[in-house]
Amino acid sequence: MTSPFSELATNLDDIARQGLYRSRRVTASPQGINLEIDGRAVVNFCSNDYLGLANHPDVLEAFKAGADRYGVGSGSAHLICGHSAAHHALEEELAEFTGRDRALLFSTGYMANIGAISALLGRGDTVFEDRLNHASLLDGGLLSGARFKRYAHADAADLGAKLENAAGNKLIVTDGVFSMDGDFAPLDGLAVAAKVHDAWLMVDDAHGLGVIGERGGGILEHCGLGQDDVPVLMGTLGKGLGTFGAFVAGSEVLIETLIQKARTYIYTTALPAAVAEATRASLKIAIEENWRRDKLKTLSERFRLGAEQLGLRVMASSSAIQPVLIGDSQQAVDISNALLNAGFLVSAIRPPTVPQGSARLRVTFSALHEERHVDRLLDALAKIIVGRK
Ligand SMILES: *Cc1c(COP(=O)(O)O)cnc(C)c1O
Repeated sequence: MTSPFSELATNLDDIARQGLYRSRRVTASPQGINLEIDGRAVVNFCSNDYLGLANHPDVLEAFKAGADRYGVGSGSAHLICGHSAAHHALEEELAEFTGRDRALLFSTGYMANIGAISALLGRGDTVFEDRLNHASLLDGGLLSGARFKRYAHADAADLGAKLENAAGNKLIVTDGVFSMDGDFAPLDGLAVAAKVHDAWLMVDDAHGLGVIGERGGGILEHCGLGQDDVPVLMGTLGKGLGTFGAFVAGSEVLIETLIQKARTYIYTTALPAAVAEATRASLKIAIEENWRRDKLKTLSERFRLGAEQLGLRVMASSSAIQPVLIGDSQQAVDISNALLNAGFLVSAIRPPTVPQGSARLRVTFSALHEERHVDRLLDALAKIIVGRK
């Protein structure tokens, strides 16, 4: 008798042999640049808490006050009795922050993407996705039942060609800042293609919001594009803003459509009101404290320059995401483990998260890092990678 899961066990062995096995490490400290993980102290270079707000005292204070006022659980979905004054105020503040008519909170970014794309498209329509889009955008497109077309990464011309003769409503979907590469989508070109072909444009700015743009308004502020150019904006709260959750912002008609039709909005419990209160506090800091964005820029540039001098393969990124291309998955994991032994937490990103043969170290910076942290990481990379060659 073979066990019912014997085939799965074989699959797991295959995954391990390819250097693709994934496992968790257990943290015992708050998020920040210094983490206690699996019982050891490390300097953290893999968080998306770019502005260093996940454990900011004002954000913690707002969270606690929110829990005192609203309790912990939100009790139900937004459409039943879970939509608190805190959620409502945060939506209004996010709408103002992004310069849009309205914003709608979702419990996670994954759900926001799936819900929005599936609400806007169905059979007979067409969705256009950048090849390197985040998994949640790809899944949203597939789940919608629309015809699914991928265009070459950051290639507005290829998109334009694919838009010719497309059927039904057309939605172009892209990451704003690509999550595993750190480069920006060519939004001016995409917006023109959308106008020419009468298509809608949706931008997922999970890695730009709070981090890019003079006021932290993200990639759209950086490019000077508004609601008319990009009718659907998705942002997450768990990265630059340091808390949890997500939102979609746009016109009155868009938001009302999502409230009626987005299944991941309707059929799920609202995120805790205390999280909304914490996010209101972190949004305020993100808008006011420009030094956090300036610092990120300085740190990222210092790393990039140093890595280039070491002969490492950095990528075309001008964001706080600075990947070092390794290629082979097992080698990327080995280097990540060696860095951990040296006291640096840097994650190895492997297929299928990135294309075959492009495993990499995804180095990210926080406004709480100092230049000496960057220099120490470069020293460790020099010993581990350059020393091996
Ligand atoms: C993290 C991420 C998401 C998912 O957001 P969650 O709130 O973590 O579910 C969606 N899109 C992109 C580009 C992301 O990086």
